[in-house]
Amino acid sequence: MRLDRFLDNLPDFNRRDSRLLLASGRVRVDGQVVRDGCSEIREFSRIEVDGRILQPGRAALYFMLHKPVGVVSATRHERHRTVLDLLDEPDRQGLHLAGRLDLGTTGLLLLTNDGHWSRRITHPRYKLAKVYYVETAKPIGEEYIETFARGLYFAFEDLFTQPAHLELLGSHRARLTLFEGRYHQVKRMFGYFRNPVLRLHRESMGPLRLESELLPGHYRPLTSEEIQLI
Ligand code: URA
Repeated sequence: MRLDRFLDNLPDFNRRDSRLLLASGRVRVDGQVVRDGCSEIREFSRIEVDGRILQPGRAALYFMLHKPVGVVSATRHERHRTVLDLLDEPDRQGLHLAGRLDLGTTGLLLLTNDGHWSRRITHPRYKLAKVYYVETAKPIGEEYIETFARGLYFAFEDLFTQPAHLELLGSHRARLTLFEGRYHQVKRMFGYFRNPVLRLHRESMGPLRLESELLPGHYRPLTSEEIQLI
């Protein structure tokens, strides 16, 4: 929302008051004087006029979690434990997931209450690389590399997958880099070759790598440097 609109909406000020307050440098956002009414503010912004707090600003939260097998990537579920149940945080109900993983998939999950931030991770427009370690039931052939790089047709969505990068690690092991996140995408891609995925683990999302010391089921807040990377 624009700062001038925010001020206009308050019962204390009319449009003219808001413009005057801004012009005279009496409005602070996160401690800084802001004179431009077009500046974007969010629910996380602390807004003051002459030292009086108009909006305290909600704390923005960002976590990295090592998702274990058997926990659902959802904020609520009737039968299974959810990833939110793994978080010992007072404000966990306001969190959402920046990209899901299947029940049997392990690895990096990001949780936040900042919708702008998570959008940059999940929206296909940003083409953020998601790297998966994969183990399969049958041998992985060289031909998979070219097929995945070309893209596969997903009839249900009526689309072609973005070019993906496959690195062979062994006869039944590979590392797959995707630049989008379609439903069951990795399993469906290997399914094209009728090769079931037995183990799937997300190692990284863009510049954020799952910390090796983080055991399954454990989590930690992201550092401010990590938050800025997205
Ligand atoms: N692709 C899948 O098939 N499953 C996941 O959990 C993530 C990507």
